[in-house]
Amino acid sequence: MESTPMTDGFHVMVEALKLNGIDTIYGLAGIPITDLARLAQSEGIRYIGFRHEQNAGHAAAVAGFLTQKPGVCLTVSGPGFLNGLVALANATTNCFPMILISGSSDRAIIDLQQGDYEELDQLGAAKPFAKAAYRINRPEDIGVGLARAIHAALSGRPGGVYLDITAATLGSVLDVETAKKSLIRPVDPAPPQIPAPESIARAAELLSQAERPLILLGKGAAYAQADTEIRALVEQTGIPFLPMSMAKGLLPDNHPQSAGAARSYALGNADVVVLIGARLNWLLSHGKSPSWSETTQYVQIDIDPMEIDSNRPIAAPIVGDIKSSVTALLAAIEPGSVKPSPAWIEDIDARKQKNMRRMAERLSANPDPMNFSSALGAVREVLASRQDVYVVNEGANALDFARNIIDMSVPRHRLDSGTWGIMGIGMGYAIAAAVETGNPVVAIEGDSAFGFSGMEIETICRYQLPVTIVILNNGGIYRGDTHDGTPSPTGFVRDARYDKLIEAFGGVGFHCTDTESLAIAVKEGLASRRPTLINAVIDPTAGTESGHIQSLNPKSALQK
Ligand code: ADP
Ligand code: MG
Repeated sequence: MESTPMTDGFHVMVEALKLNGIDTIYGLAGIPITDLARLAQSEGIRYIGFRHEQNAGHAAAVAGFLTQKPGVCLTVSGPGFLNGLVALANATTNCFPMILISGSSDRAIIDLQQGDYEELDQLGAAKPFAKAAYRINRPEDIGVGLARAIHAALSGRPGGVYLDITAATLGSVLDVETAKKSLIRPVDPAPPQIPAPESIARAAELLSQAERPLILLGKGAAYAQADTEIRALVEQTGIPFLPMSMAKGLLPDNHPQSAGAARSYALGNADVVVLIGARLNWLLSHGKSPSWSETTQYVQIDIDPMEIDSNRPIAAPIVGDIKSSVTALLAAIEPGSVKPSPAWIEDIDARKQKNMRRMAERLSANPDPMNFSSALGAVREVLASRQDVYVVNEGANALDFARNIIDMSVPRHRLDSGTWGIMGIGMGYAIAAAVETGNPVVAIEGDSAFGFSGMEIETICRYQLPVTIVILNNGGIYRGDTHDGTPSPTGFVRDARYDKLIEAFGGVGFHCTDTESLAIAVKEGLASRRPTLINAVIDPTAGTESGHIQSLNPKSALQK
């Protein structure tokens, strides 16, 4: 009798990933998933190995944002899984599709808490931080487990999904025929969600009454890849638009209808605001006064019905996917029926001109040492002719200044701290942007922010990725220590030479103390496509506590 051909959980998992077009895994090898990583790589899946799971997770999350496919992160059990969990939670918060796959130890021992190697109830731990969480206990369930994870990550509002696979499942055998039959390739995992016609009519009616309308684009709009539809809505209605930070570039920042340089004025004075893939959370002052007018009315386009009315009453909710919704809204707007008043356009323009003049003055001042504005002014000049470059940005002041100073002109090319204001996304996002697109990346980092993921410069060098890191080095969190003696809670080593770190791994380091050498270094880093780290020394007194969000620090009532 011929023996039945057999396979095992490792192979079935790799087959399931391949069947679903998962071409890249971001991970960190170890028990029990090392052989899974090896097998995936030998089967043609690109495997990018990291130095800390959180960074691998951030890479997977932003890969999901860029590609509309779930980014996959692979970790070991227990602590490795927990390290990745921050990234999974961040993906869920930011609505990025991601799947965290972690191996797990022996269920029988875990459930009786008998002390297994890396013992942890991972499924239970993941649930509060994930959009969905599943565990695969049998090799014949791998196909369905991955299919469920893909549906959960991509459908509706995207998010982070946890997929637990036990060590025993990976090692279990099953016959090839059963394995083949068990695989699933989801049909249409992110189906269009068509908005109700009444909701479209209501929104068109509200817009036709607006005198001071504004379109506010969020990163949901960037994710949706409805670039043409959004541009048509903006340009055919003549409504000024404002991008949230990761929506910058959906329309170029120098577009005549951009109200970016008149942000506060536009928010505070608009009578009807169309929110497209943007939430009225802390980043938009919850829609509350004094940032907003009490009488502003909203159209909100969002795929998640539960988002509506979460902060302010929404007069005209449109629940649907952005592509379908924007298309339907534009079709429902009679030509000429939406008329932003000329005074509104003029007022925004006047503010823009004034603020742009002020910005130009700050950018052209050349103080010694450099400050945030002058250093970023130099980077801005170089990037102006490099629209292909992805910009990753984190820090406090480094984030605030760069968001305003660095113009974007292409969709989805700016990746930053996002909804949580998280620190530590820098190297993970930079690596994924380079891996997924092949384009060069500039990571503009505060010196503190860089520290959270800095060890990944080894990863960048190992894979020879075209990443140029600019560290705006003022020697501390917010700013540097100015006193000798015990370091303050916010101070770092003075005159730290971050550029020397990357040289240890064969990358190129630059130490820049003026704008001229900084511009040259950025240009060279981009042109060479070699891993490059630029230590941009700025004034240790430059920067303010907490940047633009100082008001979020609690003040003791005693100090009043
Ligand atoms: P920002 O921080 O840029 O303002 P948010 O992350 O707060 O953006 O908001 C993004 C919103 O976009 C979320 O409420 C999410 O539900 C929504 N969203 C994501 N993808 C889509 C899509 N394809 N269609 C409609 N809405 C979407
Ligand atoms: Mg700093």
